[in-house]
Amino acid sequence: MEGFDCPTCNRGEIVMAKGPGRRMRYRHIPDLEIPAELELPTCSACGERWLDAEATRRLESALESAYRTALARKAEQAIEALRPHVAQRDLERLLGISAGLLSKLKNGKETSGPMVAVLMLLAEKPHRVEALQRLWALVPEQAGVGPMRIRRSEEPLRPSLFKEVPKASARLHVSVDEKASPLLLRLVA
Ligand SMILES: [Zn+2]
Repeated sequence: MEGFDCPTCNRGEIVMAKGPGRRMRYRHIPDLEIPAELELPTCSACGERWLDAEATRRLESALESAYRTALARKAEQAIEALRPHVAQRDLERLLGISAGLLSKLKNGKETSGPMVAVLMLLAEKPHRVEALQRLWALVPEQAGVGPMRIRRSEEPLRPSLFKEVPKASARLHVSVDEKASPLLLRLVA
């Protein structure tokens, strides 16, 4: 494709060109920068790019790599912004993701557009972290109703454990006068 006249402007010639500042939409990123060192067949006059299959393949591969780097950077920025508001492990619990996934997103070992989207939205309004805690609840908050209290035991629970618990006992003295109803008299007897 190199060396032919540009059909768009009829003035320039298609030559291999590289350089910074070339941006294009890629997946959900509206302005991903094409790596500066990537050479693409470009019109010397109007700047139109003419991609054959081989150039398209090289462009795709370069964009995918730039996309992963951009997502990792965005994840890192969001996680840093949230750091004063929530511990990383607590944030992972809140999002229902496995321990360590946030670190993997930060260093680019994992790439997830939806996950980074959630992190960016939370980082922009950190009070949303608290709201999320509330929003996960299945029933609206009720006064006096808290989560069930649980203690974990290292040992299997044996009946003897229960026997050691001191039993509470109380003696109740009740008396009624003769005018009480027959039912009450029966209960007290
Ligand atoms: Zn041209």
